Amino acid sequence: MNIQTQCCGIIVLFVLYLFYRRQEKVKLNTEKAYWRAFCITVLSICMDILSIVAIVNMDRLPIHLVNWVCKTYLVSMIGVALSSLLYIYADLYSKNGQYQRFIKKYIVLAVCGAVFIYILPISIYRDIGKTAVYTYGPSALATYLFALSFVAMNTYSMIKHRAMINSRRREAVFVWMSVWISAAIVQFFNKDILIIGYAFAIGIMILYLKLENPEQNLDRRTGMFNQNAFSEYTQQLFVEGKDFSVLCLYFEGLFHQSAKDDINEDVRIQISRYLLNIPGARVFKNAEDEAVLLFENSEDAGEVVERIKIRFNDKWGRDGSVVLRLQGIYVPRLSIISDSLDLPYLLRYVRENRRKYTENDFVTVEEAMVSDMYQEQVTERLILSAIENGRIEVFYQPIYSVKEQRFTCAEALVRMRDEEGNLIPPIQFIEVAEKNGLIIKVGEIVFEKVCRLIKEQDICRYGMKYIEINLSVIQCAYSKLAENFIRIMQDYGVEPDCINLEITESASLSAKNILLENMRSLMDYGVKFSLDDFGTGQSNLNYIVDMPVSIVKFDRDMSSAYFENGKAKYVMDAAMHMIQGMNLDIVSEGIETKEQFEIMRKLGISYIQGYYFSKPLPEEEFLRFVERENR
Ligand code: C2E
Ligand code: MG
Ligand code: MG
Repeated sequence: MNIQTQCCGIIVLFVLYLFYRRQEKVKLNTEKAYWRAFCITVLSICMDILSIVAIVNMDRLPIHLVNWVCKTYLVSMIGVALSSLLYIYADLYSKNGQYQRFIKKYIVLAVCGAVFIYILPISIYRDIGKTAVYTYGPSALATYLFALSFVAMNTYSMIKHRAMINSRRREAVFVWMSVWISAAIVQFFNKDILIIGYAFAIGIMILYLKLENPEQNLDRRTGMFNQNAFSEYTQQLFVEGKDFSVLCLYFEGLFHQSAKDDINEDVRIQISRYLLNIPGARVFKNAEDEAVLLFENSEDAGEVVERIKIRFNDKWGRDGSVVLRLQGIYVPRLSIISDSLDLPYLLRYVRENRRKYTENDFVTVEEAMVSDMYQEQVTERLILSAIENGRIEVFYQPIYSVKEQRFTCAEALVRMRDEEGNLIPPIQFIEVAEKNGLIIKVGEIVFEKVCRLIKEQDICRYGMKYIEINLSVIQCAYSKLAENFIRIMQDYGVEPDCINLEITESASLSAKNILLENMRSLMDYGVKFSLDDFGTGQSNLNYIVDMPVSIVKFDRDMSSAYFENGKAKYVMDAAMHMIQGMNLDIVSEGIETKEQFEIMRKLGISYIQGYYFSKPLPEEEFLRFVERENR
C-alpha cells in the first residue's frame, strides 16, 4: 500500500507535538490558529491513509463506506486550506477586532464546501498494482474549487495587506503554501507519488521553526514571556473586550544582563520562580528591570497583590539575607485606558511621576493618573504641532534698572498657542517638553526669535542692553547647547553681550560637568549668565560661589516673604549683602506694587522686574512700551 510518505508525515508531526506540548504558550490568537492548523493537518493525513486503505480494499468493503471515507478526506483538505487562511487572518485582523467575524464567515463557507462534497458523486481510480489511487468526478472538483478559493483568498490578503504582516510571517506562510501547492502539482501528474499529506506535515514544521516555536515568546534568562509577547497579548485582550489587571514590579539591576554576581543570580532565579508560580498570573519581562504580571481575573488580582507585598517583607536568597524593596505599579482594571498601546505609556508615566501621587514605592493606578497621562499626551501633541506650525512665541517682560532709572533689559518668556489661537503659559507645557526632550527644540526657537529681535529691531535703540533667556535643566545637560547657540548668534550677527542666560540651581544637580562645559564655551564667547529663582528650593549660597554667574534673580516667593515675614527679612538681608559683596547684581522678580518697589529700591537692589511695571508683552507691544518709557 502506498502510504509510506503519509506515515512519515505523521511521525514528523508526532515529534513536533512532543516539543510543542511541553512549551509554555502565551495564548495568542496566532498560537491558537497554529494549533488548529496542526490538528487539521494530522486529521487530514490520517484520512488520507484511511482513504487509501479503503480504496485498496474496496472490493471487500461497502461502496458507501469507501465513498464516505474518500469524501471525508476531501473535506479535510478544505479544512487544511481554511486553517491556513485563518492563520494569516489571526495575524491580520486580531488587532482590529474583525478576526472572530472572519472566522465565522469562512467556517460557513467551508461547511458549504463540505455539504457539496458529500452530496456530489465521486469516482474512484485504482490501478492494477494498487499504487496509483485517486478520486475524481464532481465531488473532487468541488474540493479543488473550494480549496483553491481559500488559497487564492489567502494569497490576495497577504498581497493586499503585506505592509501589516511582518516579513518573517509573510515568508513563512508563503513557503508553507508553496510546499503543498508544489506537492499537489507533482501528485496530479504522477498519480503514484502520494506526497500531499507529507507536504502538509513539512509545511506545519516550517511554520513551527520560523514562527510558532513558543520559545520565541520567552525571555531565556528569566523564563518569563518577553516584551513582544506582552504587547501582542494585551492588544489581543483589548480587542476581545476583556478587562484585566496588571501588576508591574521593578527590580533595579536584578534582571540586568550584567548582573552576574552570585547573590543576584540566586535571588533573580528565586524571584522569577516565585512570580512564575503565582496562580492565575501570566508573567512577562517587559523591560530590563521590569516584570509584569497580568491577571485575566481582576477579582483575584487584588488579593494576589496583597500576598506579593507580604512576601516581599520577607527575605530572599539562599541564606535568606537579601531584603528587596518592592517597587511597583498596580493597575486594577485596564478598562480605564482606551487603547492597549497606552499601557506601556501609562506604566512609564506613573513610574516617572509617582512622587506626584504618593510617597510610597508602590502605586495603585487611579483614574486621575490616567487622565493626567492623557493630558500629557495631548500637551505633547500640542507642542509638536506648535513647533511644526510656528505657534511658539516669545513675550518680553521689561526689567527696570534702579541706578539708570529706566528699562535696560528684559526677560524673554516663552508662550505657545493652540490651534484656536489661545495662549498657553509655560507652566502648562514646559514640564512635558522637558520630559520628552522637545524643550531642546523649543529653547532653540526661543533663542532664535530673541536673536532675530535683537538684530532686526536693533534693541539698543530702545535702551536695551541685553535680553535674559531661560534655560531648562534639560537644555543645560545637552552637550550641543553651546555649539548651537553660538551658531545661531553668528547666523544672526548678534553680539554675545546682548544675551544673558538664566540657569537655576537644579540645573547643576544633573550633568553638572556638561552644564559647566556649556557655560565655559558660551562665556568664552562673551555670553553672561544669571542664577534664576534664588529663594526657592535649596537656595544654597555655596552655589552662587561655585557658579560663574553675574546676576542673581530673587524669586517672587522670596520677595513676598520679605514683605510679610519678619524672619525672612534677615535671611534676605544676609543673602543680599553676601551677593553684593561678591560684586554680583540682583534682580528682584515679582514686584507688583509701588510699596514693594520702594522697599526694594531702598534695600539697594539693582534691578526690578514685575507686574508693577509690566506683564510680559508680545514683541511689538514690548518695543512700544520701552520706547515710550525710556524716552
Ligand atoms: P521665571 O523664569 O522665574 O519667570 C518669571 C515668571 O514670573 C514669569 O512667568 C513671569 O510672567 C512671572 N512674573 C513676573 N512678574 C510677576 C509679578 O509681578 N507677579 C506675578 N504673579 N508673576 C510675575 P511665566 O512667563 O509664566 O514663566 C514661568 C516660568 O516658565 C519661568 O519662570 C521659567 O522658569 C519658565 N520659562 C518661561 N519661558 C521659558 C523659556 O523660554 N525656556 C524655559 N526653559 N523656561 C521658560
Ligand atoms: Mg527666568
Ligand atoms: Mg524666576
